[in-house]
Amino acid sequence: MWFSDSSRYLHRPEWADALHSRALSDRIEIDLSECLEVFRHRDEFYADRLAGVSDWRDIPPLEKSELAAVPVNASEAVHETRSSGTTGDQAVVRNTVSERRFRQALAYRPFLFYPIAPAPDNIIRQLVFVDGADVEPADKVQWPFEFGGRTYLTWRAGIAAAPDRIHALLQLVRPQVLRGLTSGIVRFVEELHRPLEGLGVQVVSPSGEKLSDEWRASLREAFATPVLDRYGATETGSMAWQCHYCHDYHVNSDEIIVEAGVEGVLATPLFIESQPLLRYRLDDRIQFHEAEKNCRVRLPTITLLEARRDDWIIDGAGLKVSPLSFQFERVTGLKAWHLHQLNTGELRLYFDGETPTGDIQQQLAKQLQHIVSGRDYELVEGVWELERGGKFKRVTSDLT
Ligand SMILES: [Zn+2]
Repeated sequence: MWFSDSSRYLHRPEWADALHSRALSDRIEIDLSECLEVFRHRDEFYADRLAGVSDWRDIPPLEKSELAAVPVNASEAVHETRSSGTTGDQAVVRNTVSERRFRQALAYRPFLFYPIAPAPDNIIRQLVFVDGADVEPADKVQWPFEFGGRTYLTWRAGIAAAPDRIHALLQLVRPQVLRGLTSGIVRFVEELHRPLEGLGVQVVSPSGEKLSDEWRASLREAFATPVLDRYGATETGSMAWQCHYCHDYHVNSDEIIVEAGVEGVLATPLFIESQPLLRYRLDDRIQFHEAEKNCRVRLPTITLLEARRDDWIIDGAGLKVSPLSFQFERVTGLKAWHLHQLNTGELRLYFDGETPTGDIQQQLAKQLQHIVSGRDYELVEGVWELERGGKFKRVTSDLT
Protein backbone atom coordinates (compact mmCIF):
# COMPACT_ATOMS: atom_id res chain seq x y z
CA MET A 1 0.00 0.00 0.00
CA TRP A 2 1.20 3.49 -0.86
CA PHE A 3 -0.31 6.13 1.44
CA SER A 4 -2.82 4.34 3.60
CA ASP A 5 -4.31 7.69 4.64
CA SER A 6 -5.73 8.26 1.19
CA SER A 7 -9.46 7.48 0.95
CA ARG A 8 -8.63 5.65 -2.26
CA TYR A 9 -7.70 2.56 -0.25
CA LEU A 10 -11.22 2.26 1.12
CA HIS A 11 -13.83 0.25 -0.77
CA ARG A 12 -15.22 2.24 -3.64
CA PRO A 13 -18.76 2.63 -2.24
CA GLU A 14 -17.19 4.29 0.83
CA TRP A 15 -15.34 6.99 -1.10
CA ALA A 16 -18.12 9.56 -1.11
CA ASP A 17 -18.78 9.26 2.62
CA ALA A 18 -15.07 9.47 3.40
CA LEU A 19 -14.53 12.51 1.19
CA HIS A 20 -17.60 14.15 2.69
CA SER A 21 -16.79 13.52 6.35
CA ARG A 22 -13.09 14.32 5.99
CA ALA A 23 -13.92 17.69 4.50
CA LEU A 24 -15.98 18.44 7.58
CA SER A 25 -13.55 17.10 10.14
CA ASP A 26 -10.53 18.86 11.48
CA ARG A 27 -7.46 18.91 9.39
CA ILE A 28 -5.56 15.78 8.70
CA GLU A 29 -1.89 16.52 9.09
CA ILE A 30 0.30 14.64 6.67
CA ASP A 31 3.70 13.66 7.99
CA LEU A 32 6.01 15.09 5.34
CA SER A 33 9.14 13.26 6.43
CA GLU A 34 7.27 9.98 6.33
CA CYS A 35 6.03 10.88 2.88
CA LEU A 36 9.58 11.65 1.77
CA GLU A 37 10.70 8.20 2.95
CA VAL A 38 7.87 6.47 1.07
CA PHE A 39 9.08 8.13 -2.14
CA ARG A 40 12.72 7.39 -1.40
CA HIS A 41 11.98 3.67 -1.21
CA ARG A 42 9.70 3.65 -4.20
CA ASP A 43 12.19 3.14 -7.04
CA GLU A 44 15.62 4.14 -8.30
CA PHE A 45 14.34 7.32 -9.87
CA TYR A 46 13.20 8.73 -6.53
CA ALA A 47 16.07 7.11 -4.60
CA ASP A 48 18.52 9.03 -6.83
CA ARG A 49 16.50 12.20 -6.64
CA LEU A 50 16.27 12.12 -2.87
CA ALA A 51 19.85 11.07 -2.17
CA GLY A 52 21.11 13.29 0.63
CA VAL A 53 17.75 15.05 1.00
CA SER A 54 16.24 14.89 4.47
CA ASP A 55 14.04 17.99 4.54
CA TRP A 56 10.84 18.12 2.50
CA ARG A 57 11.57 21.69 1.43
CA ASP A 58 14.84 20.59 -0.18
CA ILE A 59 13.14 18.16 -2.54
CA PRO A 60 13.65 19.45 -6.08
CA PRO A 61 10.30 20.14 -7.82
CA LEU A 62 9.40 17.66 -10.53
CA GLU A 63 9.07 19.42 -13.87
CA LYS A 64 6.67 18.56 -16.64
CA SER A 65 9.64 17.72 -18.89
CA GLU A 66 10.72 15.03 -16.41
CA LEU A 67 7.36 13.30 -16.25
CA ALA A 68 8.19 10.75 -18.93
CA ALA A 69 11.24 9.59 -16.92
CA VAL A 70 9.22 8.72 -13.80
CA PRO A 71 8.93 4.91 -13.83
CA VAL A 72 5.47 3.36 -14.02
CA ASN A 73 4.89 0.54 -11.59
CA ALA A 74 1.43 -0.95 -11.42
CA SER A 75 -0.21 -4.30 -10.89
CA GLU A 76 -3.16 -3.43 -13.13
CA ALA A 77 -3.58 -1.90 -16.57
CA VAL A 78 -2.36 1.66 -16.99
CA HIS A 79 -4.17 4.25 -19.09
CA GLU A 80 -2.61 7.29 -20.67
CA THR A 81 -4.23 10.69 -20.70
CA ARG A 82 -2.83 13.69 -22.50
CA SER A 83 -3.00 17.00 -20.76
CA SER A 84 -4.31 18.81 -23.83
CA GLY A 85 -6.82 20.93 -21.97
CA THR A 86 -4.48 22.63 -19.60
CA THR A 87 -0.90 23.03 -20.71
CA GLY A 88 0.64 23.92 -24.01
CA ASP A 89 3.36 21.30 -23.78
CA GLN A 90 1.64 17.98 -23.73
CA ALA A 91 2.25 15.86 -20.70
CA VAL A 92 1.27 12.21 -20.73
CA VAL A 93 -0.30 11.13 -17.47
CA ARG A 94 -0.34 7.46 -16.57
CA ASN A 95 -2.93 6.16 -14.10
CA THR A 96 -4.52 2.81 -13.38
CA VAL A 97 -8.26 2.31 -13.69
CA SER A 98 -8.81 2.53 -9.93
CA GLU A 99 -6.72 5.70 -9.75
CA ARG A 100 -8.80 7.20 -12.52
CA ARG A 101 -11.99 6.29 -10.69
CA PHE A 102 -10.72 7.91 -7.55
CA ARG A 103 -9.70 11.04 -9.45
CA GLN A 104 -13.26 11.22 -10.70
CA ALA A 105 -14.60 10.84 -7.16
CA LEU A 106 -12.31 13.63 -5.99
CA ALA A 107 -13.49 15.85 -8.82
CA TYR A 108 -17.09 15.23 -7.71
CA ARG A 109 -16.36 15.97 -4.06
CA PRO A 110 -17.73 19.55 -4.21
CA PHE A 111 -21.04 18.22 -5.54
CA LEU A 112 -21.55 16.56 -2.16
CA PHE A 113 -21.91 20.10 -0.84
CA TYR A 114 -23.40 22.05 -3.72
CA PRO A 115 -27.10 22.99 -3.56
CA ILE A 116 -28.43 20.71 -6.28
CA ALA A 117 -31.92 19.27 -6.11
CA PRO A 118 -31.84 15.91 -7.88
CA ALA A 119 -34.56 14.71 -10.23
CA PRO A 120 -36.64 11.66 -9.17
CA ASP A 121 -34.49 8.59 -8.47
CA ASN A 122 -31.71 10.93 -7.32
CA ILE A 123 -30.64 11.62 -10.86
CA ILE A 124 -28.44 14.58 -11.66
CA ARG A 125 -28.10 15.51 -15.30
CA GLN A 126 -25.05 17.44 -16.37
CA LEU A 127 -23.85 19.05 -19.55
CA VAL A 128 -20.08 19.26 -19.93
CA PHE A 129 -18.44 21.72 -22.33
CA VAL A 130 -15.46 19.97 -23.91
CA ASP A 131 -12.96 20.49 -26.75
CA GLY A 132 -14.25 20.02 -30.25
CA ALA A 133 -17.39 20.66 -32.27
CA ASP A 134 -19.60 17.64 -31.57
CA VAL A 135 -22.83 17.85 -29.59
CA GLU A 136 -24.12 14.58 -28.19
CA PRO A 137 -27.76 13.62 -28.86
CA ALA A 138 -30.23 13.80 -25.98
CA ASP A 139 -30.87 10.06 -26.25
CA LYS A 140 -27.22 9.03 -26.15
CA VAL A 141 -26.24 5.83 -24.37
CA GLN A 142 -25.38 6.68 -20.78
CA TRP A 143 -22.62 5.35 -18.54
CA PRO A 144 -24.05 6.56 -15.23
CA PHE A 145 -21.67 7.58 -12.49
CA GLU A 146 -22.87 6.67 -9.00
CA PHE A 147 -21.55 8.88 -6.27
CA GLY A 148 -22.84 9.95 -2.88
CA GLY A 149 -26.25 8.31 -3.36
CA ARG A 150 -26.81 10.07 -6.66
CA THR A 151 -26.64 8.96 -10.24
CA TYR A 152 -24.95 11.38 -12.61
CA LEU A 153 -25.90 11.33 -16.28
CA THR A 154 -23.62 13.19 -18.65
CA TRP A 155 -23.93 14.89 -22.03
CA ARG A 156 -21.04 16.60 -23.78
CA ALA A 157 -21.08 19.62 -26.03
CA GLY A 158 -18.07 20.77 -28.03
CA ILE A 159 -17.27 24.40 -27.35
CA ALA A 160 -16.83 25.02 -31.08
CA ALA A 161 -20.32 23.80 -31.91
CA ALA A 162 -22.98 26.26 -33.06
CA PRO A 163 -24.55 27.82 -29.94
CA ASP A 164 -28.04 26.94 -31.24
CA ARG A 165 -27.20 23.24 -31.24
CA ILE A 166 -25.99 23.40 -27.64
CA HIS A 167 -29.09 25.36 -26.70
CA ALA A 168 -31.33 22.73 -28.28
CA LEU A 169 -29.63 20.02 -26.21
CA LEU A 170 -30.03 22.14 -23.06
CA GLN A 171 -33.75 22.44 -23.73
CA LEU A 172 -34.15 18.70 -24.21
CA VAL A 173 -31.97 17.53 -21.33
CA ARG A 174 -32.58 20.32 -18.82
CA PRO A 175 -29.37 19.62 -16.86
CA GLN A 176 -29.10 20.73 -13.23
CA VAL A 177 -25.34 21.15 -13.60
CA LEU A 178 -23.15 22.76 -16.24
CA ARG A 179 -19.47 21.90 -16.19
CA GLY A 180 -16.44 22.13 -18.44
CA LEU A 181 -14.08 24.56 -20.08
CA THR A 182 -14.63 28.02 -18.66
CA SER A 183 -14.04 30.05 -21.81
CA GLY A 184 -16.25 27.66 -23.77
CA ILE A 185 -19.24 28.23 -21.49
CA VAL A 186 -18.61 31.98 -21.58
CA ARG A 187 -18.42 31.97 -25.34
CA PHE A 188 -21.68 30.01 -25.58
CA VAL A 189 -23.44 32.51 -23.34
CA GLU A 190 -22.09 35.50 -25.24
CA GLU A 191 -22.90 34.16 -28.69
CA LEU A 192 -26.34 32.72 -28.03
CA HIS A 193 -28.26 35.95 -27.39
CA ARG A 194 -31.17 34.08 -25.84
CA PRO A 195 -32.41 33.78 -22.26
CA LEU A 196 -30.97 30.86 -20.34
CA GLU A 197 -32.35 31.35 -16.86
CA GLY A 198 -35.49 29.23 -17.38
CA LEU A 199 -33.67 26.04 -18.34
CA GLY A 200 -33.39 24.52 -14.88
CA VAL A 201 -29.63 24.91 -14.41
CA GLN A 202 -28.91 25.00 -10.67
CA VAL A 203 -25.13 25.27 -10.58
CA VAL A 204 -22.52 26.34 -13.12
CA SER A 205 -19.22 24.75 -12.19
CA PRO A 206 -16.52 25.50 -14.75
CA SER A 207 -12.89 24.41 -14.61
CA GLY A 208 -9.68 24.35 -16.60
CA GLU A 209 -9.03 28.07 -16.79
CA LYS A 210 -8.86 30.98 -14.42
CA LEU A 211 -12.34 32.37 -13.93
CA SER A 212 -12.07 36.15 -14.19
CA ASP A 213 -14.53 38.37 -12.31
CA GLU A 214 -15.96 39.43 -15.63
CA TRP A 215 -16.58 35.86 -16.77
CA ARG A 216 -18.04 34.94 -13.40
CA ALA A 217 -20.49 37.81 -13.56
CA SER A 218 -21.45 36.96 -17.10
CA LEU A 219 -22.24 33.32 -16.21
CA ARG A 220 -24.10 34.19 -13.02
CA GLU A 221 -26.23 36.69 -14.82
CA ALA A 222 -26.97 34.43 -17.78
CA PHE A 223 -28.14 31.41 -15.77
CA ALA A 224 -29.26 33.22 -12.59
CA THR A 225 -27.53 30.52 -10.54
CA PRO A 226 -24.43 30.23 -8.34
CA VAL A 227 -21.15 29.90 -10.23
CA LEU A 228 -18.83 27.61 -8.30
CA ASP A 229 -15.42 27.17 -9.84
CA ARG A 230 -13.02 24.25 -9.52
CA TYR A 231 -9.24 24.13 -9.84
CA GLY A 232 -7.08 21.20 -10.88
CA ALA A 233 -4.71 19.84 -13.49
CA THR A 234 -4.72 16.71 -15.61
CA GLU A 235 -1.49 15.54 -14.05
CA THR A 236 -2.51 15.96 -10.42
CA GLY A 237 -6.28 15.67 -10.30
CA SER A 238 -8.67 18.05 -8.61
CA MET A 239 -6.84 20.36 -6.21
CA ALA A 240 -9.37 22.90 -4.98
CA TRP A 241 -13.01 23.88 -5.31
CA GLN A 242 -15.06 26.89 -4.56
CA CYS A 243 -17.21 26.54 -1.50
CA HIS A 244 -20.94 27.07 -1.61
CA TYR A 245 -20.90 28.29 2.02
CA CYS A 246 -17.89 30.62 2.26
CA HIS A 247 -17.16 31.17 -1.47
CA ASP A 248 -13.43 30.59 -0.99
CA TYR A 249 -11.52 27.76 -2.66
CA HIS A 250 -10.96 24.79 -0.35
CA VAL A 251 -7.95 22.57 -1.06
CA ASN A 252 -8.27 18.78 -1.16
CA SER A 253 -5.35 18.74 1.25
CA ASP A 254 -6.15 15.28 2.61
CA GLU A 255 -5.50 13.76 -0.82
CA ILE A 256 -2.95 16.10 -2.40
CA ILE A 257 -0.11 17.94 -0.68
CA VAL A 258 -0.47 21.36 -2.27
CA GLU A 259 2.25 23.96 -1.73
CA ALA A 260 2.32 27.58 -2.84
CA GLY A 261 5.81 27.60 -4.33
CA VAL A 262 7.40 30.84 -5.54
CA GLU A 263 7.90 29.34 -8.97
CA GLY A 264 4.40 27.90 -9.04
CA VAL A 265 2.13 25.42 -7.31
CA LEU A 266 3.76 22.19 -6.13
CA ALA A 267 1.46 19.18 -5.94
CA THR A 268 1.98 15.70 -4.50
CA PRO A 269 -1.11 13.54 -5.03
CA LEU A 270 -1.19 10.78 -2.41
CA PHE A 271 -3.59 8.57 -4.34
CA ILE A 272 -1.43 8.14 -7.46
CA GLU A 273 0.74 5.13 -6.94
CA SER A 274 1.45 3.87 -10.45
CA GLN A 275 3.47 6.90 -11.55
CA PRO A 276 3.70 9.01 -8.42
CA LEU A 277 4.42 12.73 -8.56
CA LEU A 278 6.53 14.33 -5.86
CA ARG A 279 6.26 18.11 -5.71
CA TYR A 280 5.09 18.31 -9.31
CA ARG A 281 5.36 21.91 -10.47
CA LEU A 282 2.57 23.79 -12.23
CA ASP A 283 2.89 27.33 -13.51
CA ASP A 284 -0.11 28.57 -11.54
CA ARG A 285 0.27 30.76 -8.50
CA ILE A 286 -1.81 30.43 -5.36
CA GLN A 287 -1.77 31.86 -1.86
CA PHE A 288 -2.91 30.06 1.28
CA HIS A 289 -5.09 31.98 3.68
CA GLU A 290 -3.38 32.37 7.04
CA ALA A 291 -6.44 32.69 9.21
CA GLU A 292 -8.59 29.65 9.80
CA LYS A 293 -11.88 29.99 8.02
CA ASN A 294 -15.08 29.88 9.97
CA CYS A 295 -16.70 27.49 7.51
CA ARG A 296 -18.24 24.10 8.04
CA VAL A 297 -15.86 22.75 5.41
CA ARG A 298 -12.58 22.49 7.31
CA LEU A 299 -10.20 22.11 4.38
CA PRO A 300 -7.69 24.98 4.08
CA THR A 301 -8.52 27.85 1.75
CA ILE A 302 -6.54 29.56 -1.01
CA THR A 303 -6.76 32.39 -3.48
CA LEU A 304 -5.92 31.59 -7.08
CA LEU A 305 -3.62 34.41 -8.11
CA GLU A 306 -2.74 33.33 -11.57
CA ALA A 307 -3.40 30.35 -13.73
CA ARG A 308 -0.80 30.47 -16.45
CA ARG A 309 -1.57 27.70 -18.79
CA ASP A 310 -0.21 29.10 -22.02
CA ASP A 311 3.32 29.02 -23.37
CA TRP A 312 5.62 31.86 -24.30
CA ILE A 313 6.59 32.54 -27.89
CA ILE A 314 10.23 33.15 -28.88
CA ASP A 315 10.69 35.89 -31.46
CA GLY A 316 13.30 36.03 -34.21
CA ALA A 317 15.84 37.69 -31.90
CA GLY A 318 15.41 34.97 -29.28
CA LEU A 319 13.32 37.17 -26.96
CA LYS A 320 10.37 35.77 -25.06
CA VAL A 321 6.91 37.11 -25.87
CA SER A 322 4.26 36.66 -23.20
CA PRO A 323 1.09 34.78 -24.16
CA LEU A 324 -0.82 37.71 -22.67
CA SER A 325 0.42 39.93 -25.53
CA PHE A 326 -2.00 38.32 -27.93
CA GLN A 327 -5.56 39.67 -27.93
CA PHE A 328 -6.76 38.47 -31.31
CA GLU A 329 -10.22 37.83 -29.92
CA ARG A 330 -10.80 41.56 -30.22
CA VAL A 331 -10.78 41.28 -34.00
CA THR A 332 -14.38 41.64 -35.18
CA GLY A 333 -15.85 38.40 -36.52
CA LEU A 334 -13.14 36.18 -35.03
CA LYS A 335 -14.60 33.28 -33.07
CA ALA A 336 -11.58 31.36 -31.87
CA TRP A 337 -7.82 31.32 -32.28
CA HIS A 338 -4.82 29.25 -31.36
CA LEU A 339 -1.27 30.44 -31.97
CA HIS A 340 1.30 27.68 -32.16
CA GLN A 341 5.06 27.90 -32.57
CA LEU A 342 6.70 24.95 -34.29
CA ASN A 343 10.14 23.77 -33.23
CA THR A 344 11.53 25.44 -36.35
CA GLY A 345 10.40 28.75 -34.84
CA GLU A 346 7.71 29.26 -37.48
CA LEU A 347 4.32 30.47 -36.24
CA ARG A 348 0.94 29.02 -37.16
CA LEU A 349 -2.12 31.02 -36.30
CA TYR A 350 -5.20 28.80 -36.46
CA PHE A 351 -8.48 30.66 -36.42
CA ASP A 352 -12.22 30.41 -36.91
CA GLY A 353 -14.15 33.42 -38.04
CA GLU A 354 -17.24 34.60 -39.80
CA THR A 355 -16.94 34.17 -43.54
CA PRO A 356 -15.60 35.71 -45.67
CA THR A 357 -12.44 35.81 -43.60
CA GLY A 358 -10.33 38.07 -45.83
CA ASP A 359 -10.66 41.04 -43.54
CA ILE A 360 -9.98 38.98 -40.44
CA GLN A 361 -6.86 37.47 -42.00
CA GLN A 362 -5.51 40.88 -42.82
CA GLN A 363 -5.95 42.12 -39.27
CA LEU A 364 -4.51 38.96 -37.74
CA ALA A 365 -1.41 39.15 -39.95
CA LYS A 366 -0.89 42.79 -39.08
CA GLN A 367 -1.19 42.23 -35.32
CA LEU A 368 0.94 39.11 -35.36
CA GLN A 369 3.80 40.84 -37.21
CA HIS A 370 3.58 43.72 -34.81
CA ILE A 371 3.84 41.54 -31.67
CA VAL A 372 6.35 38.91 -32.85
CA SER A 373 9.11 40.13 -35.11
CA GLY A 374 11.45 38.12 -37.24
CA ARG A 375 9.41 34.96 -37.57
CA ASP A 376 7.73 33.37 -40.57
CA TYR A 377 4.06 32.74 -40.06
CA GLU A 378 1.10 31.05 -41.65
CA LEU A 379 -2.61 31.63 -41.07
CA VAL A 380 -4.69 28.46 -41.06
CA GLU A 381 -8.48 28.34 -41.00
CA GLY A 382 -9.95 25.86 -38.52
CA VAL A 383 -8.85 25.86 -34.89
CA TRP A 384 -10.65 22.64 -34.15
CA GLU A 385 -8.71 20.66 -36.73
CA LEU A 386 -5.66 21.09 -34.55
CA GLU A 387 -5.06 18.12 -32.28
CA ARG A 388 -4.45 20.36 -29.32
CA GLY A 389 -7.45 22.57 -30.03
CA GLY A 390 -9.16 23.46 -26.78
CA LYS A 391 -10.52 26.78 -25.58
CA PHE A 392 -11.10 29.70 -27.84
CA LYS A 393 -7.79 31.41 -27.31
CA ARG A 394 -4.54 29.63 -26.75
CA VAL A 395 -0.81 30.05 -27.18
CA THR A 396 1.35 26.94 -27.40
CA SER A 397 4.93 26.36 -28.40
CA ASP A 398 7.23 23.46 -29.13
CA LEU A 399 10.16 25.71 -28.23
CA THR A 400 9.37 26.61 -24.62
ZN1 LIG B 1 -16.09 27.05 2.83
